[in-house]
Amino acid sequence: MSTPIPHLWLPYTQMQTMTPPLRAVRTAGTRIILDDGRDLIDAVSSWWTACHGYNHPHIIMAMEKQLHNMPHVMFGGLVHEPAERLAARLATILPKPLNRVFFADSGSVAVEVAMKMAVQYRLNRGDSGRTRFLSFRDGYHGDTLAAMSVTDPDEGMHALFKGYLPEQVIAPIPRDKASTTEFHHLLEIYRHEIAGVIVEPLVQCAGGMKMHGPETLKIIAEAAHDAGAALICDEIAVNFGRAGSLFAHTQANIAPDIICLGKALTGGAINLAATVATTDIFEAFLSEDADAALMHGPTYMATPLACAAANASLDLFETEPRLQQVAAIEAQLKRELAPLADLPGIADVRVKGAIGAVEVENLHDLDWLKGQFVDAGIWLRPFGNVIYTMPPFTVTPAELSNITGAMAEIIPRWAARAGENRGT
Ligand SMILES: *Cc1c(COP(=O)(O)O)cnc(C)c1O
Repeated sequence: MSTPIPHLWLPYTQMQTMTPPLRAVRTAGTRIILDDGRDLIDAVSSWWTACHGYNHPHIIMAMEKQLHNMPHVMFGGLVHEPAERLAARLATILPKPLNRVFFADSGSVAVEVAMKMAVQYRLNRGDSGRTRFLSFRDGYHGDTLAAMSVTDPDEGMHALFKGYLPEQVIAPIPRDKASTTEFHHLLEIYRHEIAGVIVEPLVQCAGGMKMHGPETLKIIAEAAHDAGAALICDEIAVNFGRAGSLFAHTQANIAPDIICLGKALTGGAINLAATVATTDIFEAFLSEDADAALMHGPTYMATPLACAAANASLDLFETEPRLQQVAAIEAQLKRELAPLADLPGIADVRVKGAIGAVEVENLHDLDWLKGQFVDAGIWLRPFGNVIYTMPPFTVTPAELSNITGAMAEIIPRWAARAGENRGT
């Protein structure tokens, strides 16, 4: 059977009924340029990675230099300056006990590594009973097996893959009295089986841009510590300023045992992720016994080219006013998206840092919606019942107004269409 495009198998796509994808030929600043010459403002920073915009000269220069010298070399038995420097810099900017960096090639793998660390930490301490995790509804931690198991049951397709996925304990985010009671109750029941509690601090992004406050994160952290479970903060989506601070969890003044980094780590130039552990976690793997070591090692681990990009991205957080830009984006998003909250068909408007989300009552006719945004010169990719923007931090106020203006103009028309469809 033929499909709209040959050979390629695309992500999250029903290949038989899909609308043919647009073809990108170039990126520049905040723009994606298409093969027909149109250029679109990227309102989602290429899946939340391109925090400095595309092709930032400082990152390109650092990568070019590294490319000619040593794009890649195996990480088994060899180390190199770009990885050593990056690990040292991450240890410096992260809160103190987080200082051992394990590099991976994607966020999902960084999550798998964090989970292996948490389980083996227990085993190495002589406790073999703790092999499960507590995670949260609406959470998302990646598409590999263990990462799916701690993702929201619907998003992670727990029913479809039943028998294949490890079974975890899924709790509600402790937002109010009822959910806090349920969360504490679940942790209490399973405490002797739970190796770790994994959470996306402040914003559950792929699960629908669901937001919670620092006080909620504090409740989670305290309960995890009381239960003797490792607290894993999956910052892959919110790290490097997206939620208003360099790392989101620091807004709650909590102390994770393990933290996962990714997405914007290289400023969107190339794939790289990291799992960072505390001294205490790391030291549980030190032994005369070789079996106590962490047995994990991606072939493309700590790729020098990717480390060079990440080092250059960190330079930019030092030399350019990224966090001030995020604060300005947050204020503008609040100002310009707030009026949508009162319109029919719109359930909620949420803003945190450089994330602005409009939740609609029902999502329908997504292709129509995406097409309208493209016609308005905006690249947006809604999911669930959420239409959101996560722009590059270098977006200009005028460009951001284009994005929010298109959202304010298109979403109500689209919600009205839902009404008509229901009537017919
Ligand atoms: C995107 C994401 C991941 C998975 O990262 P990949 O690089 O796509 O494997 C994990 N956790 C969170 C919170 C994410 O947003």
